[in-house]
Amino acid sequence: SEAYNVSWCGWGYEFNVTPAQMLGTVPKLKELGIKWATLDDRWFDTYGDWDPRPDTFPGDSIKKMTDEFHKQGELVQLWWLPLGVEDGQGKYESHKYLLSKVAKEHPEWLILDKNGKHARMIRDLAVLCPAVPEVQAYYKQLTEKFIRDWGFDGSKLDNIYTVPMCYNPAHHHKSPQDSVNAMADVYKTIFQTTRAIKPESVTQSCPCGTPPSLAWLPYMDQAVTADPVGAVQVRRRIKMYKALLGPEAAVYGDHVELSAMTRVGKSWLEHGNDFASTIGTGGVVGTKFVWPDPGPKFKNVLLTQNKEAHWKKWIGIYNEKMLSKGNFRNLYVDGYDTPEGYAIEKDGKMYYAFFAPSSAAWRGEVELRGLEPGTYHVVDYADGKDLGTVEATADKAPRLATEFKEHLLLEVSR
Ligand SMILES: [Zn+2]
Ligand SMILES: [Zn+2]
Repeated sequence: SEAYNVSWCGWGYEFNVTPAQMLGTVPKLKELGIKWATLDDRWFDTYGDWDPRPDTFPGDSIKKMTDEFHKQGELVQLWWLPLGVEDGQGKYESHKYLLSKVAKEHPEWLILDKNGKHARMIRDLAVLCPAVPEVQAYYKQLTEKFIRDWGFDGSKLDNIYTVPMCYNPAHHHKSPQDSVNAMADVYKTIFQTTRAIKPESVTQSCPCGTPPSLAWLPYMDQAVTADPVGAVQVRRRIKMYKALLGPEAAVYGDHVELSAMTRVGKSWLEHGNDFASTIGTGGVVGTKFVWPDPGPKFKNVLLTQNKEAHWKKWIGIYNEKMLSKGNFRNLYVDGYDTPEGYAIEKDGKMYYAFFAPSSAAWRGEVELRGLEPGTYHVVDYADGKDLGTVEATADKAPRLATEFKEHLLLEVSR
C-alpha cells in the first residue's frame, strides 16, 4: 500500500506556498526516495468552498501541479478540514473569514447552538451539520473535485476532533447529539469516495495532539502522530496507534523536524532530525524541508548539504527495511522497562529499538525479548556494526551489554 511510502510536506514553506515551490523540490524527493508530496494548509480561498486561492494557485494551476507531480512519478496529498465553514465572523492566523459560498447559499445546513447562533468549532469556524443528508452529499462532491477532477491521490484531513451539538430546528433532530453521532458518516463518505476513485489513495486523519476519536478512526488508511512535540511523543503515539489499529498499521511519524523543538516566544523552533524514533518503532517517515533555499525566513527547515547526507542515510534505511510493514510486537512496557524498548518482527528477523532516557549515554544490558531458542547474530543496522552473537533459550531472553547515545537499533537474525 502507498500508505507506507515516505512523505514530504510543503508545510516547510508555510501558508503562502506556490506550485513552483512545491514542484521545485521534486528532484530532491526523487534523489532521497520520497514518494509523496503534501500540499498543506492555505492553498484555498475559504474554508467550506475549498477553491484554490487566486493569488498563489491561479486558474487551473492546482491541477497542472498534480499532473506534473504524477509525470515525475510522485503522488500528491491535499490538506483540508471537513465540516468547518467561514460565515463571515472571526479569523485564523492572518486570514480574516469571509462568507463562504456554501454558507451563503445553504445557511440551513449550519449547526446552531442553544441560542440559535452558528455554533463554532476549531479555528473559530462555523460548522455544517453532518447529520443533514445534503451536507453528506456535499462532502462527496468535494472529494470528487479533489481526487477525480484535480487528480490528488489522497487527503490529509486535519484538526479532527468532533462537532458541536446541533439545535437547528430545521434539521428535526431527535437529539442535539445527532450531529456528533453523524460526524463519522462524513468521514466515511470522504474515505469511500476517495477509495472508489483511486484504490491506491491514502487518507490521513490528524487530531492535532489529542487522542483519536473512535468515530472516525475506521475511515482512514494512515494514522499520524499528529503534531508531536518531540521524539518521545512520536514513539509512544506510534505504539498507541499500533495497539488501536493493528501491529502492521501505517502510522505516519509526522515531519521529522518535529522530533526536537525549542520554545521561542509563543511558538516553537523545530529542528529535529531523529528518524530513529519513527523507523525503530515501525512508523512511516516524513519531512518538511525546503529546497532550493527560499531565503532566511526558512533557514531552520532548509535542506543543507549536511542535513541532506543525514536525510539520505535515514530515508535509505527506512526504504530498505520497511519496518512499518512488519509485525509490531508488544514486548516492552513504557515506564517500566529502561531503556524504552520496541520490537518488530519482519521477514524472519527481529528488529529492536532502544532509546536512552536522557541525552547522556546509556550504559547497561538490554534484553532481546521474543526470540525462539537458538543462536542469533546481532547487527547495529543504523551504523552497520557487527555486535556478535547471542543465545536464546526457552526460559531466558538473551541480554546484550551495550553503551549508546540517543538510540540503539538492532537487527537480530539466525
Ligand atoms: Zn443539525
Ligand atoms: Zn494536525
